[in-house]
Amino acid sequence: MTQVPNLRLNNGVEIPQFGFGVFQVDPDQTAQTVRQAFEAGYRHIDTAQMYRNEEGVGDAIADSGLSRGEVFITTKLNNQNHGFDSAIATLEESLKKLRLEYVDLFLIHWPLPHQDRYVQTWKGFEKLLADGKARSIGVSNFQPAHLDRLAKETDTVPAVNQIELHPLLTQTELRKYHAEHGIATEAWAPIAKGSILGDATLTGLAEKYGRTPAQVVLRWQVQVGNIVFPKSVNPARMRENINVFDFELTADDLAAVEALNTGQRTGPDPDTFGR
Ligand code: NDP
Repeated sequence: MTQVPNLRLNNGVEIPQFGFGVFQVDPDQTAQTVRQAFEAGYRHIDTAQMYRNEEGVGDAIADSGLSRGEVFITTKLNNQNHGFDSAIATLEESLKKLRLEYVDLFLIHWPLPHQDRYVQTWKGFEKLLADGKARSIGVSNFQPAHLDRLAKETDTVPAVNQIELHPLLTQTELRKYHAEHGIATEAWAPIAKGSILGDATLTGLAEKYGRTPAQVVLRWQVQVGNIVFPKSVNPARMRENINVFDFELTADDLAAVEALNTGQRTGPDPDTFGR
């Protein structure tokens, strides 16, 4: 089975660099899909309150026979749950659904800067960390200005920032910021939801390495140091996606993937989302 390396977060917690995302997995199908992902070798699951499928993730964990320490579980605070007290109360709800005593990583899903509540939410997250309800805490879709505010007004540097990141949106500036501040980069939509897989550079590299375009993109993600969790409801694709630890792209080929950047998002702009 594929050997996925762990990365060490800024609080010492280890995270499998390659995981499985369950956005848009039907709540009724989630337990079966996550069971299949475990069979394919995934041990890190990325869910969110917004996905309405935490129960399914919990069922799959309970059925898996895996011990708690063998799986790494992330969930994310839904947008209506911002605020110090709400952040604390809502993680309790997620833990019940997941049937867990703690999550490995709890994220603020979106900063919603126009509401100006993410600093208070983060203070709630610091309490959850201190109370052992989350082994690590982080953010998602935060821009440098939002990270700067947390640094100025709170005591804890986020362990990760989960951002949209793929060959069309390489996020050079944010990756540099993260590296300078000890924040790990998690890449959501790591294969741009499948939209880029017909690109000539990627199909050319796939042919060169005897791999699929998805594997080339995911290998690029791994080699530049990002944490990824592609989603698929198809067991053959689950296996294809995680099978990227036995080949290596050259520096020129990494640069060729990086050169596909156009700044194009598949999802909303974090500065204006939710307004
Ligand atoms: P991905 O880039 O992972 O792409 C998923 C899509 O690609 C699905 O339609 C899937 O179809 C298809 N696909 C998967 N593997 C292959 C393959 N090998 N070849 C061809 N097509 C393939 O997009 P996601 O948006 O799902 O992002 C991954 C995860 O990131 C999410 O599940 C979620 O956990 C997280 N995320 C976080 C966000 C945030 O705001 N923090 C926002 C969006 C995502 P099929 O299932 O039919 O195989």
